[in-house]
Amino acid sequence: MSRKKRKSNPRNRKRNVKEFTPKHNTVVKNIEYYEGITVGELAQKCNRNASDVIKILFMLGNMVTINSMLDDESVELVCLEFNITPKKVDPLEEEDSLLDDEVDDPKDLKPRAPIVTIMGHVDHGKTTLLDSIRKTKVVEGEFGGITQHIGAYQVGVDGKLVTFLDTPGHEAFTAMRARGAKVTDLVVIVVAADDSVMPQTKEAVDHAKAADVPIIVAINKIDKPTANPDRVMNEMADLGLTPEEWGGDTIYVQTSAKLGTGIKDLLETILVLSEVKDLKANPNRIATGTVIEAKLDKGRGPVATLLIQNGTLNFGDFLVVGTTYGKVRKMTDDMGEEIKSALPSTPVEIIGLSEVPEAGDMFKVFDDEREARLLAQRRNQVKIEQERKQTSAMSLEELTQRIAEGEAKEIPMIIKADVQGSAEAVKASMEKLEVEDVRINVIRSTAGAISESDVMLAEASGAVIIGFNVRPDANVRKMAGDSGVSIRLHKVIYKALEEVESAMKGLLNPVFEEVVIGQAEVRQIYKASKVGTIAGCMVQDGKIIRDCNVRLIRDGIVVYDGKLGSLKRFQNDAKEVSAGYECGLTIENFNDIKEGDLVEAYKDQEVPIE
Ligand code: GDP
Repeated sequence: MSRKKRKSNPRNRKRNVKEFTPKHNTVVKNIEYYEGITVGELAQKCNRNASDVIKILFMLGNMVTINSMLDDESVELVCLEFNITPKKVDPLEEEDSLLDDEVDDPKDLKPRAPIVTIMGHVDHGKTTLLDSIRKTKVVEGEFGGITQHIGAYQVGVDGKLVTFLDTPGHEAFTAMRARGAKVTDLVVIVVAADDSVMPQTKEAVDHAKAADVPIIVAINKIDKPTANPDRVMNEMADLGLTPEEWGGDTIYVQTSAKLGTGIKDLLETILVLSEVKDLKANPNRIATGTVIEAKLDKGRGPVATLLIQNGTLNFGDFLVVGTTYGKVRKMTDDMGEEIKSALPSTPVEIIGLSEVPEAGDMFKVFDDEREARLLAQRRNQVKIEQERKQTSAMSLEELTQRIAEGEAKEIPMIIKADVQGSAEAVKASMEKLEVEDVRINVIRSTAGAISESDVMLAEASGAVIIGFNVRPDANVRKMAGDSGVSIRLHKVIYKALEEVESAMKGLLNPVFEEVVIGQAEVRQIYKASKVGTIAGCMVQDGKIIRDCNVRLIRDGIVVYDGKLGSLKRFQNDAKEVSAGYECGLTIENFNDIKEGDLVEAYKDQEVPIE
């Protein structure tokens, strides 16, 4: 491999670690290290030659090189040999963090534009509202067209700027928050005046409240003859957003996104609220902020939209973005105009990063490229390690452990039930539980199936989901599995309470979780006087097993939940029938089976406690 080629590959760069030469007059007594520390880095921290570290580990039967990553035990053994006390730190919280931890002198702070996200139920007008707001740019004569280039834009109102994140809906908002990004200063919740408060409206309220950001309600579509703003206000007040004119503290603005009515009002309200919040930043320092979106462009390489949250980003700056790094080689604003520097609250698009970061990643500018590159590499190692450990969300078992160790005092919880009454009953009972100072904090309790948005909220808040007579579908299950969110399904309130109570005591008994094993469609019905209704079925997925539990689903609704009576292939009893085969089955004590029904087979399986 030629020298040049090796240099251009970031993976190989890591291997070109120069060996450190110890300073002889310095004796090290204590060191701090982080997950994934390499032999070379440990040697440097201990003020020793890497070969000394390699030798010690070799004597212990551990063959390593200067670039090998060490586990805690190896670090401790090496340190013991050197008579040094090691202390493990989380690099992402210590020096390697991209968090803006520098405290600015109040006299350096200047007002900055508020950053706003628009959320609301589908079809209530989020996109139209964002378009309509964008058009005010044209009205204000700021530019000639309304072509949008990046996922965020700024508009001027009375000489001041407001930044809008152009990703309507709460998915983007929650996904960012789940990654620890705090971007939004203010949330506008759109509710159509001719409709009412809908499930996603409630979810948006939950998300905004969980993130503790002020809410403005835009009652949209007031141009419609059927518009009824009072009803919206009533329903929103029931969610705790009492309008100012009724003595509460939520501001309501009436808009017609379609006609452009009330948009100025909305923008002015945003400004007033943000003045109250006294939003400030220091433009005279290096920039920090968050990735709004990022992609790989065929011609230009990694392209990232960044929101600058503090400082000024300049052309040519070196920066670490999440686990990647680079140099600002080109920077454009929301209109696609090339710019050389960008102030706080400005969204910009940059090119020059070595890889594509993720939305929600934080970024920070560094003095030189080497520093940026090393930090990005270290962050990358830690990320891999963390992903391996799947620590993004908290399972009930982990919570139990943290409670036992006295670390957690609250279990955040999402309750989903078949009817609102049950959800409320479960919530009330859960909130009454108190065991040795540990409490339940119900952040959502609603009727309905467990949805992707529940899993996202759970991931963002480290919550456990309790499903009461409802179930997640396969996608949601997978998503929960991938993100490490715990879903507990129960049919009886006291069982759910028992389980949670034991988690609160720090001792969780084995729990049973249902596992769906197969699904069959009912194709034909036979009535037999002795055995009742026999369903001729086609197994579509997985398999049906003798003695399993079954659920009869008609038009997406569970009409019966019980046990399989009998299972036959042709005339013979069968132990199991797999996908692609026909079978005849009965359901114990249940005869109301119809053609087209789905039979879902499941079993309760013990969930091991780690
Ligand atoms: P989103 O799903 O929340 O982004 O909603 P859209 O912005 O796509 O709007 C859904 C539908 O409502 C579209 O047909 C819009 O034209 C219409 N719409 C949005 N705002 C208004 C409004 O203020 N008045 C009327 N009459 N229709 C609107």
